[in-house]
Amino acid sequence: MNKRYIFTFPPDIVNRPIVSEIAKHYDVMVNILNADVTSGREGKLVVELEGERENVSRSLEYAQECGVICIPILRQLKFEEDSCVACGVCTAVCFSGALSMDEDNWELKFDPEKCVVCGRCVKACPLGLFSIEMET
Ligand code: SF4
Ligand code: SF4
Repeated sequence: MNKRYIFTFPPDIVNRPIVSEIAKHYDVMVNILNADVTSGREGKLVVELEGERENVSRSLEYAQECGVICIPILRQLKFEEDSCVACGVCTAVCFSGALSMDEDNWELKFDPEKCVVCGRCVKACPLGLFSIEMET
């Protein structure tokens, strides 16, 4: 299986190598898609876990026993790219870096791997080019 999660680390465990422990002890591949971690503050990671279903479940249990809040990302963002006029408004609200302007041609770049499906761009785009749907 292959699923994305938001891991929230309380400040007292933000420096613990829990993600590498998961990868090592549970035979789960952890792909970090986005990170906002500063020592002494609550940290957030967007991760993709890949491995046998049982191993992924056990790794999540371990992370939660350590105090990490693990929330699955069950939605995905749809983007009507062909209608985009590259106004850039959506990039100002996208904190994850999934939306950015390409400095070579000033077109919008969308990186779905970085998207945490927060929905801010859905409200921000004047042309209504974003929508959210449940993953199947
Ligand atoms: S939903 Fe939109 S604003 Fe939120 S992370 Fe994804 S691309 Fe960025
Ligand atoms: S706000 Fe809408 S039209 Fe403007 S760059 Fe983003 S997707 Fe394109």
